[in-house]
Amino acid sequence: MSNRTIVSVENLHKVYDNGTHALKGVSFEVKEGEFLVVIGLSGSGKSTLLRCINRLHEPSHGKIEFLGKDITHLRGRELRNIQKQIGMVFQHFNLIPRKTVLENVLAGKLASVSTWNSLIGNFPKTIVDDAYRCLEIVGIPEKAGVRADALSGGQQQRVAIARSLIQHPKLLLADEPVASLDPATSNSVMQYFERINKEFGTTIICNLHFLSLVRRYATRVIALKAGQIVFEGLPTEIDEKWFKEIYGEEAMEVEIR
Ligand code: ADP
Repeated sequence: MSNRTIVSVENLHKVYDNGTHALKGVSFEVKEGEFLVVIGLSGSGKSTLLRCINRLHEPSHGKIEFLGKDITHLRGRELRNIQKQIGMVFQHFNLIPRKTVLENVLAGKLASVSTWNSLIGNFPKTIVDDAYRCLEIVGIPEKAGVRADALSGGQQQRVAIARSLIQHPKLLLADEPVASLDPATSNSVMQYFERINKEFGTTIICNLHFLSLVRRYATRVIALKAGQIVFEGLPTEIDEKWFKEIYGEEAMEVEIR
C-alpha cells in the first residue's frame, strides 16, 4: 500500500430526484493499494456511494477527488478519461448474454476503439491478446468462444472482472459482486479480487453483505447507516457492539464460509 491518496470524498451528499437523501455528508480517503470494503444495511447508500465515485450518478453536494484531481463535476471527454481508469463490477454481472466471453471482455475496451472497427469486430491483435491475458487472470481463457449466457454465475462474474481489467484500471469498484452467488463461489470470486489487489496493486472499493467475507478480504472497512458513516476502521475491530450499531439490535450474524 502506498501513501498516495487515490480517492478523497469530502462531505458528499446525494439527493435523488424523488427527494431521497441517500448520502448525508460522507467523508473518507482511500490510499492506493487498499482493499476497502463498504458495509451497511440494504438502502444505507453503499451503491449510491460507488456510483458517485465513478460519476454514474451526479453528486448533489460535496467533493470527490481522484488522484488529486477534482472530478465532482467533470463532463464529456475529461469525465470519460477518468472513467476509463475506474473499473466497475456489478452484482448481476451485466454481460451481453448472446455475445461470446471474448466479445464481452473486449466490450470493456470499446471506448478506445473506433465505432466502425468495433462494429465489424475488428479489434487490434494487441487488444485481443490483452483480452486473453485478462481471462487468464480470472482462470477461464478456455471459455473465450463460449456464449456468456452458457456460463455459471461465478464464471460470468469472472468475465465481468476480466472486462473491467482490460481497462487496466487504477481503481476497481465492486457493487455487491458476490450477492448473487453461493458461498463457495463467493469465496472463489473474492479471491480473484484479492489477487488483483495484491499482484497488480489495484485499489479496490467493494460493497459486501457478509461480515465473514469482510473479515477475510478487507484491509479497511467503512460502514454506512442511513447515508452516514458510522464506523471506519479495521475488520477485526467490528465486534458485537459495533455489529449491533451498524446493523441494528435485531440483527444476527450469518456466517458464510
Ligand atoms: P445500498 O446499496 O446500501 O442498498 P442504495 O445506495 O442502493 O443503498 O440506496 C440508498 C437509498 O437511495 C435508498 O433509500 C434507495 O431506495 C434510494 N435510491 C437508490 N437509487 C435510487 C434512485 N435511482 N432514485 C431514487 N432513490 C434511489
